[in-house]
Amino acid sequence: MFNNRTRIKELIANESVNYEVIVMGWVRTFRNNQFIALNDGSTNNNLQVVAELGKFDESVLKRITTGAALKVSGEIIPSLGKGQKIELKAHLIEILGDSDAEKYPLQPKKHSLEFLREIAHLRFRTNTFAAIFRVRHTLAFAVHKFFNDKGFVYLHTPIITASDAEGAGEMFHVTNFDLTNPAKNEDGSINYKEDFFGKATNLTVSGQLEGELAAMALADVYTFGPTFRAENSNTARHLAEFWMIEPEMAFYDLEDNMNLAEEFIKYIIKYTLENNKDDLEFLSQRLAEEEKQKPQHERSEMGLIEKLEFVINNNFERLTYTEAIQILKESNHNKKKKFQYLIEDWGVDLQSEHERYLVEKHFKKPVILTDYPKNIKAFYMRQNEDGKTVAAMDILAPGIGEIVGGSQREERLNKLTERMNEMHISTEELDWYLDTRRFGPVPHAGFGLGFERLVQFVTGMSNIRDVIPFPRTPKSAEF
Ligand code: ATP
Ligand code: MN
Repeated sequence: MFNNRTRIKELIANESVNYEVIVMGWVRTFRNNQFIALNDGSTNNNLQVVAELGKFDESVLKRITTGAALKVSGEIIPSLGKGQKIELKAHLIEILGDSDAEKYPLQPKKHSLEFLREIAHLRFRTNTFAAIFRVRHTLAFAVHKFFNDKGFVYLHTPIITASDAEGAGEMFHVTNFDLTNPAKNEDGSINYKEDFFGKATNLTVSGQLEGELAAMALADVYTFGPTFRAENSNTARHLAEFWMIEPEMAFYDLEDNMNLAEEFIKYIIKYTLENNKDDLEFLSQRLAEEEKQKPQHERSEMGLIEKLEFVINNNFERLTYTEAIQILKESNHNKKKKFQYLIEDWGVDLQSEHERYLVEKHFKKPVILTDYPKNIKAFYMRQNEDGKTVAAMDILAPGIGEIVGGSQREERLNKLTERMNEMHISTEELDWYLDTRRFGPVPHAGFGLGFERLVQFVTGMSNIRDVIPFPRTPKSAEF
């Protein structure tokens, strides 16, 4: 097929009239045997195609059904109808693909997000999901643009690794063994020496450790790839397979790190506001309608676009973990026992309810929390002078909670190995990592941003399953 189609988005933006075009797309609706709403995925705005009465064969008209694919050539003319400036007066209509309207699962009515999740192979065809995935694309593009413009090197870290970066142990094993009959040691344990890689391996939970290796030579690097966590948490913000952006910078301290993260988030949101205005307006309206179903006190004070503009125009609130604990402890919420987990002592990990309280109720803007207790953070975070806290920073966003986790890394060899020993992390297995602290170590820092959480934030979707094409969650790996 000689593809000489014009995208509907271009036609509508162009606004000029009286010229011939070819369009291809799918039928959304067909009214009065005359008016076809055609969509080609470039925009949620359908092109009105007019099939003049009497001009087309009944056999062709019969096949113009919801979901059918068409090629139409004709003339762009000023529209007489309301709602659009131009329309396409069809000269020739070719059916590229039929669609049995009776059996087509997407009817021209509102479907619930839950139902659409079950037919995720078709949900791209709805306005909501088309807008979400165009926005997701723009965000991904902006990520690369931001780092490229700043001179960062895009690093591809391995998907299969033998290390557990977080020490959290929520890993998917990778093996080539016949699971009914794996090689065994004399004591009956599994003998990974006989496995494909000659050792136990897993899907990566983070590219950070490898990122640090490259940062110690290329200075500014970032990864953007899939990560996997076998955490059995069936929440609206956890996936088993998600995409993470992890920049790692030499000659950076915690403050440099926070500055970069804040600039980065603002940049990609601004870029998307500038390039996907229509989609964000559509999603904003969708959200406003969804919010109407909620009781007054649960509704957000700002609309989606308002919220995004607020984020790019205001500084994130920065405070220490210790200050945050103080605020939470003294909050009415805590006193009236409205938290499921009450805040009593310094040292506890913050639950999502606490993060959201700080962001949504107390500060009403994104918050960067720093200097967490070392006991609730990873081994590689730089130890502070007080001996109790580490140079960590988490960025918390309204409606989402934690969106970024980062830190200045411990570059002092003795401090690092000391901490690894305390936490029972093998210095032998990570000897390659320790080499960066032996040969020319420098202060360095980095962070991880969960891409889907960002897409959730920007699109206003409350469930993370709705911002990735094919979500992987406990007991679900469809399509
Ligand atoms: P959480 O406390 O929300 O589980 P985490 O502390 O496990 O997050 P990190 O290990 O710091 O998260 O990972 C970095 C970022 O990756 C997080 O800030 C978050 O944006 C994202 N993230 C972490 N786990 C998931 C997940 N299961 N699904 C989607 N995104 C995730
Ligand atoms: Mn987690």
